[in-house]
Amino acid sequence: MNLTRYRTKRDFTRTAEPSGRSSPHQRTGRRLLFVIQKHAARRLHYDFRLELDGVLKSWAVPKGVPVVQGEKRLAVQVEDHPVEYANFEGTIPAGNYGAGTVMLWDAGIGQVLDEEPRQALRAGKRVLHLQGQKLKGHWTLVRMRAREEAEPNTWLLIKTEEDAPRISARAEDRSVLSGRTMKQIAAQGGPTWQSNRNQAVRRASGRATRPASRVRRRRR
Ligand code: MN
Repeated sequence: MNLTRYRTKRDFTRTAEPSGRSSPHQRTGRRLLFVIQKHAARRLHYDFRLELDGVLKSWAVPKGVPVVQGEKRLAVQVEDHPVEYANFEGTIPAGNYGAGTVMLWDAGIGQVLDEEPRQALRAGKRVLHLQGQKLKGHWTLVRMRAREEAEPNTWLLIKTEEDAPRISARAEDRSVLSGRTMKQIAAQGGPTWQSNRNQAVRRASGRATRPASRVRRRRR
């Protein structure tokens, strides 16, 4: 539950991705921030991230989130990301880890049902209710390998309960942070997320991921 793996993969003098050095605003309970980033790296994939204990637990989903009930998609758990990553959109320069274009594809609240979120992660089964801007409904993440294995990182993301509303072609290629398409993000190069960071996430979730300084100010 720390960011060592995340940090050792990246050179923060060369990528605009957040280092996660600032202390994150921690939420507890079952209503957690989730985001999905569309990432045109060497191969296009979607990164599904769900907050837990001040980091974003992360899965790379090569074929995207399933929307038809019963559909299963491979989801490979990757290193924990800082909570600030939920606001990252832009281009990771060539030669850096994950080089390519990143779009904030969806954001909102993800509830872990049935189990306490930490326990569900350990048990390798997380029943989720997502309330995003694009994705709404139930999904289940199930770990494929036994927990005794050294790298228990292979999961399935399964559409459960009901079909999800279809994502239109327009919505598929539209950022919930900036309204931009993948082409526009790539063309504009560097990240523009600093100017309106947290906006999309706050709108989606009705909760703040505001910097600690602002939290302190409000409490005064
Ligand atoms: Mn990725």
